[in-house]
Amino acid sequence: MSNAELHARRFAAVPRGVANATGIYAARAENAELWDEEGRRYVDFAGGIAVLNVGHRHPKVIAAVQQQLERYTHTAFQIVPYAPYVELAERLNALAPIEGKAKTILFTTGAEAVENAVKVARAATGRSAVIAFVNGFHGRTMMTMGLTGKVLPYKRNFGPAPAEVYHLPFPNPRYGVSLDDTLRALQFLFAADVGPDRVAAIIVEPVQGEGGFNPVSAELMTALREVCDEHGIMLVADEVQTGFARTGKLFAMEHYAAKADLITVAKSMGGGFPLSGVIGRAELMDAVDPGGLGGTYGGSPVACAAALAVLDVIAEEGLVQRANAIGAALHARIEGFARRNDLIPISAPRGPGAMVAFDVLRSRGGHEPDGPAAKALTVRALENGLVLLSCGQFGETIRILVPLTASDAVIEEGMDILEAALGAAELA
Ligand code: PMP
Repeated sequence: MSNAELHARRFAAVPRGVANATGIYAARAENAELWDEEGRRYVDFAGGIAVLNVGHRHPKVIAAVQQQLERYTHTAFQIVPYAPYVELAERLNALAPIEGKAKTILFTTGAEAVENAVKVARAATGRSAVIAFVNGFHGRTMMTMGLTGKVLPYKRNFGPAPAEVYHLPFPNPRYGVSLDDTLRALQFLFAADVGPDRVAAIIVEPVQGEGGFNPVSAELMTALREVCDEHGIMLVADEVQTGFARTGKLFAMEHYAAKADLITVAKSMGGGFPLSGVIGRAELMDAVDPGGLGGTYGGSPVACAAALAVLDVIAEEGLVQRANAIGAALHARIEGFARRNDLIPISAPRGPGAMVAFDVLRSRGGHEPDGPAAKALTVRALENGLVLLSCGQFGETIRILVPLTASDAVIEEGMDILEAALGAAELA
């Protein structure tokens, strides 16, 4: 069946509220390549939105899942627990940059992990307020939608917003916000809206994902840690998008001296299978009474088997180092594109490891974002065989989330398509 036929059926059967970045229908996928229902091949720079750091259908992940399928697929951890869940928790506790003893609880989606991090922080502190950042993204469920720092398209018509969620401006020179602005806004917030003794948690993405691949500076992370220490507030690092080697460390929080009290993980942990979790300081994680946390599918044994294989693959294939090598190559090529007059104007590349992005701009050397041109660029890239994602406050940012297992040849091929699209978009 053609992509167009499937797309027509999709619009008849599925609401438009779930948007599609492309109109191609997946038929099969392998590592950093995928093929649509019409047999056309694409290089995949989206990785299912940061889920495929080990690529589509990594053979070790598939073998682990197949073995698990032969044994049991679901018992509900709350009813009949199983070893893969416990083993994964043990390994995450040992690997995550958490001070002291850690414990881990598993869920299914990123939003669910964030919801539960808030529950743990509230139970551990006896407080209710949560502070997040403008342009942050934490999910689409009621609480995580509240935490997400962007009204359109995430919050419109979905009110009332959950109570006691506050937002701070995120320091970002591109949008004219300095670190000082952020820290002053925090003091204003404490003075005007909520005393620090009522704040359970501050939640931050070490690198804003949907918000445009904006890294938190070492200064901001240290300042947040100090404020949290001073007032007994939990620092929650949302590593749903940054985790599992993407930034050139297993966890992006390893880039900072400051440590989080709780870390949320999902996406690439499951290697393509739905799995998320909260890793945190053991005494906080145990603040919730039995039965207060969980869910029927949380920590599915099939997904746990996949995640254990993902951790093996990251270690065996040196994907942390590979992320840095891929990142260096992407930076070099994007820097070259940014200097060229025959391509549309773009910014310098940014982002740690292989979490690389650049902005499409209205004018060369300027700062004004051009969201429509970025959208046109992704459309042109797709036409030429590259699945490419945009993000950012105005949709102006092009982000690259190529699997870390991709060969140099496939990455170069993708960058060649991007280069051609950067030229073609100007002509459009
Ligand atoms: N937090 C972050 C940082 C994310 O990037 C996302 C997803 N883009 C989420 C939470 C929500 O994850 P999910 O879509 O699995 O609920």
